[in-house]
Amino acid sequence: MDKACVYLDYAATTPVDPRVAQEMAGCLTVDGVFANPASVHAHGRRAAEWVEQARGQVAALIKAEPAEILWTGGATEANNLAILGAARFYGRRGRHILSVATEHKSVLGPLAALAREGFQIEYLPTDEQGRVAPAGLAAALRSDTVLVSIMHVNNETGTVQDLAALAVVLAKSQALFHVDAVQSAGRLALDLGTLPVDLLSLSAHKLYGPKGVGALYVRRRPRVRLAPVLFGGEQEQGARPGTVPVHQVVGMGAAYRLAAEQGARDSAHARTLLGRLWAGLEPLGGILRNGSAEAPHILNLSFVGVHGEALAAELPRLSVATGSACTAASGSPSHVLRALGRPDALAHASLRFSCGRYSTEQDIDSAVEMIRSALLRLRALSPVWRAYREGAPLATLYKEAST
Ligand code: PMP
Repeated sequence: MDKACVYLDYAATTPVDPRVAQEMAGCLTVDGVFANPASVHAHGRRAAEWVEQARGQVAALIKAEPAEILWTGGATEANNLAILGAARFYGRRGRHILSVATEHKSVLGPLAALAREGFQIEYLPTDEQGRVAPAGLAAALRSDTVLVSIMHVNNETGTVQDLAALAVVLAKSQALFHVDAVQSAGRLALDLGTLPVDLLSLSAHKLYGPKGVGALYVRRRPRVRLAPVLFGGEQEQGARPGTVPVHQVVGMGAAYRLAAEQGARDSAHARTLLGRLWAGLEPLGGILRNGSAEAPHILNLSFVGVHGEALAAELPRLSVATGSACTAASGSPSHVLRALGRPDALAHASLRFSCGRYSTEQDIDSAVEMIRSALLRLRALSPVWRAYREGAPLATLYKEAST
C-alpha cells in the first residue's frame, strides 16, 4: 500500500497480526494441520486439538468456559444466530424484544425478520450519546419480553454501554441478554464469570485476526438454548453446522491470546493517539464529537460548514469511515448519528477515526494536516461556515441551510 496513505479505520477491520498469520499458515498445506476436525483419524484428531485450543483461547479472553464458545462465520452470523435462535426457541414464553436503534445492521436485520414473524420489537430510548439508562430498560421490560439485545461499544461512535448496570435490571426478568461485543472484546475488560450476559457475539477481524470467522458465547449455567438457523450437520453442538475452518479459528484463537497479553497496552496506545488527533483538530473550530468517545479506539467527529462527500473527496490519502459508510449503497446518512439526533447534513459531514496496534504519531499528524488543508479549502466557500463564525447557532444553521 502507498506509504503516503494513512489507515485510521481499525473499527472497520484490522490488519492480521503477523504472528497470527504464521499460525494460520500452519493449518493449510499438506505438512500442516489441514484435516477436517470432525474426522476420527489421527489427522482429524490433531486438527480437533488445535480447534479446541483456539476455543479455549477465545473463552479465556472473556472468562468463559470453552464449551460456551460456538464458532461462526463472523459476527454478523453470530448476531443472527443469537437473535433468531433465541427468539425462536423461547418464542412461546413471549414475543416482545427490546433493542436500540443505534445497533449494528447485523442486529437490526434479524430483528426486522422477527418482526415479520410476529414478534414485537421495541427500541429503547437513549441519551444524546446513545447510552441506555437502566431505568429506561426497567420501564420498557414486560412480562413477555424474551430477549434484550444491546451492544457493548458502538462501532460508529465508540459509546460504551454500562452492561453491568443493565444486567442488574434484567436479573429480575425472564428475558435473555444478548450483547454484540465486536468492538469491545480485547479492548475493554469483559468478564462473563461475573457479568450475567446470556449470549455475546465476537469477531476475529476487529482484533488482528482473519475476516470470515467469529464466535457466539452461549451461557451454560443456566443453559441457554438456540433454535438452529442453519441445518445439515452436527458440528458446534448442532447449532452451527458446517466443517470448522481450522486455519480461521486457529487465527482467531491466536489473535485473542495476543489480545489477552497486550490488549490493555494496545488500548492505551490507541487512546493516546486519538487524544493527539483531537488536540490537533479541535483548534480548527466547528468540530463536534459524536457519541461519548469512551471507547479507546474510536473518535467520531462532525465538521461544520462542509459537505460529507466533498470532505471525503478532499481526503484521498486518508482511509477513514465517512458518515454514510455503513449505508454507502443507499447514500443516506448513518442510522446511528440520525438516531442520536444529528441533522442529516451534519451526520453526512462526519468522519469516524479509529486506530490501533500499528498506528503511529506520524499517522495522526499527517491526518491532522490533511484535514486542516481540506477544511481550509472547503470552508472558504461555505456560507454556513461564514454564518457559524459570525455566531449563528448550529440549530438554526442546520435546520434550513445546506452547506
Ligand atoms: N457488530 C459490530 C458492532 C461491528 O462493528 C461489526 C463489523 N462492522 C459486526 C457486528 C459484523 O462483524 P463481521 O464483520 O465479523 O460480520
